[in-house]
Amino acid sequence: PTPSTAEIREKFLQFFESKGHLRLPSHSTLSPDPSTLFTVAGMQPFKPQFLGAAARFPGYEGEHKRVTTAQKSLRVTDIENVGRTRRHLSLFEMLGNFSFGDYFKREAITWAWELLTAPQYFALDKTKLHVTIYKDDQEAFELWTQEVGLPEERILRFDADENFWPADAPLKGPNGPCGPCSEIYYDRGPDFGSDSWEDYAQTRESARFLEIWNLVFPQYDRQEPRPDGTPVLADLPFKNIDTGMGLERIASILQDVPDFYGTDTFRPIIERVAELSGQAYQGETSVSHRVIAEHLRSVSMCLADGVTLSNTGRGYVVRKVLRRASRHAYLLGFREPVLHSLVALVVAAMGEAYPELKQNEAQVQGAIKAEEARFLATLESGTQRLDAMLGKLEKGQTLNGAEAFMMSDTYGFPLDLTREIAEEYGVSVDEAGFDKALEEQQERARAASRYGKSELFGEVQDVLENVVREHGATEFVGYEELVTE
Ligand code: ATP
Ligand code: MG
Ligand code: MG
Ligand code: MG
Repeated sequence: PTPSTAEIREKFLQFFESKGHLRLPSHSTLSPDPSTLFTVAGMQPFKPQFLGAAARFPGYEGEHKRVTTAQKSLRVTDIENVGRTRRHLSLFEMLGNFSFGDYFKREAITWAWELLTAPQYFALDKTKLHVTIYKDDQEAFELWTQEVGLPEERILRFDADENFWPADAPLKGPNGPCGPCSEIYYDRGPDFGSDSWEDYAQTRESARFLEIWNLVFPQYDRQEPRPDGTPVLADLPFKNIDTGMGLERIASILQDVPDFYGTDTFRPIIERVAELSGQAYQGETSVSHRVIAEHLRSVSMCLADGVTLSNTGRGYVVRKVLRRASRHAYLLGFREPVLHSLVALVVAAMGEAYPELKQNEAQVQGAIKAEEARFLATLESGTQRLDAMLGKLEKGQTLNGAEAFMMSDTYGFPLDLTREIAEEYGVSVDEAGFDKALEEQQERARAASRYGKSELFGEVQDVLENVVREHGATEFVGYEELVTE
């Protein structure tokens, strides 16, 4: 029998409970620390513990150096990948097990293998599992080959740009806990791609080999670089474990469907979109069905977590995601708000695991409906205007920045949306020109106000900025709103 996504989540958490881990609830999608707007990984709420704080958690007695969670995670950088790559969602659940100075690589690696392959757990075919390690991590290499018995040819060694987390390279990532990592991939087979595992060393991109689980070994604290630019990786007080497995990715494998959208999480939403629009879902080419189902999930979750739609910060990110979904609904022929009517399906899929969705269902629906109505007021004329401008350009040409800015200013089309539509014409957008037009408008607004930034106002502004950092931004009615509303 095919396990449901809920069952897979539960099995993961139970497995680590059986290994002495405390199960903690997910943190909100609003990031617990200032390095990102949204929570991007399961480890984020535990940075203090990695940095040496006592492993005590409100509401739980005693110390817990082993913790397991399913963390709802949102990656702004992956939003535009939705509908384009097979493996990216904007909101996903990261299943994780954490050790705060307790067990280290040996247990992390052998337990991961046990969970993935044991018949009573995920029962994956061992021959389909492949791993990458950080190039110098001989310890991980030996554990994979000697303890687990993985053949050497299924292990690739990568630089810090791939196998050091969180970072593009140890020199660049955000300050804080970090370390080398080892990633586990599942070979979905030749139907998905004709490339080989050796090819992956060069391509770093594969439809066939799907990254499912990242085992991170945080043992460093990345600090401010020295004045001459030399990076500073200080030892943490102890060695830690931080892992992250994509629930929706493992679900697509265990449910034996080609991608996320075939899993029990997304299918009911997609089917409803097909039914309401009268347009059958045809898999990978039905980008609009997919974007709607996916974006609705992240928008609903963020709104349930207390984000308010606005023109700055988190509220703006969520607004962009919702407007992108809105445009895809328009492409399917909807001319009235419809996304709000799908919220119940999101709640049905995720409300059990995330009760905040159930509790805030009415508000979430209301906020989505109001935003849909607001955007629909300019979507049609905006689309016509943009189509006309793009229609005049040849493939490979550039839409000028002032026009892209006008789309945002007059029609409420976020730059990302204009860029996406332009790409459909093979046209790029002059983003420097957009920024310039935006700056000029802000300059005009400043000149129009009687007072410049006086010294006193500067201080007040600093205080306000601190408040915003700590408590999140409040609604800022900016340039876009003045014109569109
Ligand atoms: P990718 O290389 O595919 O973008 P990643 O290396 O950025 O993934 P990690 O930061 O290592 O991902 O996160 C741990 C796990 O979370 C991944 O192995 C994957 O299973 C899952 N994951 C990461 N990003 C996404 C996403 N956008 N959608 C769904 N699952 C994701
Ligand atoms: Mg990524
Ligand atoms: Mg990766
Ligand atoms: Mg990874």
